[in-house]
Amino acid sequence: MQANEIRTRFIKFFGMRGHREIPKAPLVPPNDPTTLFTSSGMQQLVPFLKGEPHPMGRRLMDSQPCFRSEDIDEVGDNRHITFFEMLGNWSLGDYFKKEQLPWFFEFLTEEIGLKPERLYVTVFEGDAVVPKDEESVTVWKKVLKTNAPARKGADGFEPTIKIYTYGADKNWWSRSGIPANMPPGEIGGPDSEVFYDFQTSHDPKFGRVCHLNCNCGRFVEIGNSVFMQYEKQADDSFKPLPQKNVDFGGGLERIASASQNQPDIFNIDIFTEARKTLEKVVVVSSPESIRAVRIILDHLRAAMFMVSDGFEPANKLQGYVLRRLIRRAALHSKIADIDLDNSINLVIDKLCGSYITVDPNLGENQGRILETIRIEITKFEKTLSQGMKKVLSKVGGGTITGTELFDLYQTYGYPPELVKELAAQKRVMVDGKGFEEAKRQHQETSRTATKGLFKGGLADKSDETVKLHTATHLLHKALREILGNHVRQEGSNITAERLRFDFSHPRKLSGEEIAKVETVVNQKIKEDLPVHRTVEEKDKALKSGALAFFKENYPAMVSVYTIGKDPAKEWFSKEFCGGPHVKSTGGIGGIRIIKEQPVQSGIRRIYAELHS
Ligand SMILES: [Zn+2]
Ligand SMILES: [Zn+2]
Repeated sequence: MQANEIRTRFIKFFGMRGHREIPKAPLVPPNDPTTLFTSSGMQQLVPFLKGEPHPMGRRLMDSQPCFRSEDIDEVGDNRHITFFEMLGNWSLGDYFKKEQLPWFFEFLTEEIGLKPERLYVTVFEGDAVVPKDEESVTVWKKVLKTNAPARKGADGFEPTIKIYTYGADKNWWSRSGIPANMPPGEIGGPDSEVFYDFQTSHDPKFGRVCHLNCNCGRFVEIGNSVFMQYEKQADDSFKPLPQKNVDFGGGLERIASASQNQPDIFNIDIFTEARKTLEKVVVVSSPESIRAVRIILDHLRAAMFMVSDGFEPANKLQGYVLRRLIRRAALHSKIADIDLDNSINLVIDKLCGSYITVDPNLGENQGRILETIRIEITKFEKTLSQGMKKVLSKVGGGTITGTELFDLYQTYGYPPELVKELAAQKRVMVDGKGFEEAKRQHQETSRTATKGLFKGGLADKSDETVKLHTATHLLHKALREILGNHVRQEGSNITAERLRFDFSHPRKLSGEEIAKVETVVNQKIKEDLPVHRTVEEKDKALKSGALAFFKENYPAMVSVYTIGKDPAKEWFSKEFCGGPHVKSTGGIGGIRIIKEQPVQSGIRRIYAELHS
């Protein structure tokens, strides 16, 4: 069955069981500065899994585009991909194991047509503090019509046994990992995975015996039901939660590969047309060219969705990941002698074509996608010849240090293996260990850099910064009152010393206007208005008059801050915002506008500081 059909059937199947389809989150989560990309369906649902009521009810579902940048270097074998779609269904304190497990099994066998004899399942085997998930074992026995006892997964696979148990490293979910690592108050629970058996032969390099979680590729996990049912206590015990949730996620591409019985994920229908195009322009078919074709397909598909979502190649954050994807695809086309220049047009056309019925944006953006990728490949080719010179300059002995190797990798996208190959021919030493160290250091720095990005342009979360952040909301509204409703936020940056606020306005503010704005803000501070946070449906919030920062893509459910006596009726300011804020405006004390200046045509900037 084709991937598009599987997606449609999933939505219909769970729709008939009382689920409502929530809108997809954008590929880049707008209100979560701790992560660069949406990497699972549950990401946008975290507050609701913790107990906040969801306006669309207790049974939800969707198909969520996801990207996992940590998998980039793994791409090239027959199953790793960076971009994928995750089918998801959720019960927020509604149904539990005895509904979820049979439903998913029914979906796989009745709707998709997978043969039950090809399916095997895993459950949590228990540890010193949390008991074995007997409930799931009982449900599965009934569903799979088996009396055979569950077997320990590590003991190996046996076709007549359908249920296997694994420890917390495989069948336990919490944000901090295994039960022992969870802090008191954190929620978690066992999960149950379904595996499809491709019936390929086991490769002993992955271990003596084959089992469901073996990495040889025989078994592929096609869906995981997480049962959030425990809260860790201060004494390290686990207490059952009053609200038990189901969080299910299943990779669409993997379910498609099971349905099409293709152990090679790049052979599924989504990739077929684009793959054929590339295979026509490969000069020699070799292991490198098979690997290169997979890398090009995966990376360009991910790049296509990122560009369509509004991202451009850049030197930091998401833009940097996009740049690496395009450059890696281009590099591997060179290694394998694939004429990407003359086939890229068609490859993008075929990849877009696979999604045209489900994502019309792709069709509309196709021209821009192609142009962005082309420009980046041209830039890459220029730097590549510079990088090549650097490697060749070492000819005749010497060592390429770890830092140099990382630099080549980072700047030019050279995989270290390729440098080693070049280098070996020229009898140049390569410091591979030094490379790993340089890479680790870089990852740590970028992780810290990502963590440093707080919401709303805040430099930190000090008291002063939080006060100035609330003052920024008051300022935004005051500017609209004094200057008119054409005023929109264009940017903001807040430190403990001052706030900086950019907004649209065609001309310089007069001294009188500045004084009026300052007076309004200080008046609202004096009134000591309460600050409320609510989570609302995006469209409803917009309709109620909440201001959104137009440069952001917001998810279906948004966090909104309202300043005023009554958040439903009587308020002064209402904005989409992730916080944090003071409890009531009196806490700000007072502000003073210190500067007003132009940023660019039509945009002004105001600086203000705390002043009481
Ligand atoms: Zn195996
Ligand atoms: Zn804000």
